[in-house]
Amino acid sequence: MIILVINCGSSSIKYQLLDMRSDTDYTLKAKGLVEKITLPEGRLVHKPSGKDNFEQILPIPDHTVGMKLVMDALVDPEHGVIGSYDEIQAVGHRIVQGADFFEGSCLVDDEVLRKIGICCDFAPLHNPAHLLGIHAVTDVLPKVPQVVVFDTAFHQTMPDYAYMYALPYDYYKNYHVRRYGAHGTSHKYVSREGAKFAGLDINNSRIITCHIGNGSSVTAIKDGKCIDTSMGFTPLEGMIMGTRCGNVDCNVIPYIMKKENLTPDQMTDIMNKKSGFLGLSGISSDMRDMLAAASEGNERAQLVLKKLTYDIVKLIGAYVAVLGGVDLIVFTAGIGENNSFLRKDVCGKLAWLGVEIDDEANSHNGQLTMISAPSSKVKVALVPTEEELMIALDTKHIVEQL
Ligand code: ADP
Repeated sequence: MIILVINCGSSSIKYQLLDMRSDTDYTLKAKGLVEKITLPEGRLVHKPSGKDNFEQILPIPDHTVGMKLVMDALVDPEHGVIGSYDEIQAVGHRIVQGADFFEGSCLVDDEVLRKIGICCDFAPLHNPAHLLGIHAVTDVLPKVPQVVVFDTAFHQTMPDYAYMYALPYDYYKNYHVRRYGAHGTSHKYVSREGAKFAGLDINNSRIITCHIGNGSSVTAIKDGKCIDTSMGFTPLEGMIMGTRCGNVDCNVIPYIMKKENLTPDQMTDIMNKKSGFLGLSGISSDMRDMLAAASEGNERAQLVLKKLTYDIVKLIGAYVAVLGGVDLIVFTAGIGENNSFLRKDVCGKLAWLGVEIDDEANSHNGQLTMISAPSSKVKVALVPTEEELMIALDTKHIVEQL
């Protein structure tokens, strides 16, 4: 089944075209990105497998025009990878927020669109863009079934004492205020792949997954089900991230707003886009810049690195407690997959738990690797995340039932 996977942002469309011959036998036919939609200099970068990359700069007024460009690139005689639009049998969309409406992936219909619309309130940067993406696909491929895969769905198994905030109950009842988590597709994928790789039965296992990228979250998974995760109502809660602050005492927020005379929107912007690595270091939100500055002696970049390790260790410690032990710890995403220093630093501070790292294995970045020593009491694995594959698999399973 040829499946187009779409991850739509407010001004971008990321895509992958996968040929899913079976759940385990598949090929990536092409991937790419449309960016700067609505700006005068829109851009398409199309990367067909086995052919030269193709780039186009032109005004892209809306998502439907962006989708049409993607389709034209996919069928182009020179850069294309399929003969016609008809070869695409299904489209899978990544959706950031499904709140407690969705426990799993599903086919798009009017009711599903209505609920994704309600969830726009909890993910104002993401969900409206996902809706634009779904409508753009409907415009360009009206007969093709579309499936939505939610970042929050995997976390719907959290018990109420983990997902509830101790705020007045009416805020939960009236406004859906509770913890939902994020990166669920990634946590689900790497926990399953990690368990397989470590020879564990996922249905009888205690796994902690650390998705450490621009956005970061840690999840506790018991017998294959999420029982707690560090992100909350929105992807702001939890640990330090590239530009997000993670946990702060809530009283700090009105205090700063009063001192600096800020509106709620301005404060939200500061917490989401000007904090984290960027806010603490004053240099950048990118891990590579932090490593470079720290090695040159920049104390604030060094502080960022220390806090990043500390936050991860603290979350792992808490989740070992709630899981009643741990069999496997998994590192994934941009930083988790590529920064051997961080993995060593975190694992070194977990020696009390019986974690022993194999330095040689840990030096291999970006590939599926068991980085713990054979004598380690807890297995530690690096598992590259494949969110698009997970979306394609869910899409395939749902469309096959039609
Ligand atoms: P997003 O949350 O946007 O998907 P990613 O998972 O791609 O983010 O992670 C981006 C982060 O990964 C950035 O901080 C980047 O510096 C970091 N990163 C990527 N490659 C490397 C590398 N080779 N070494 C250290 N950090 C890296």
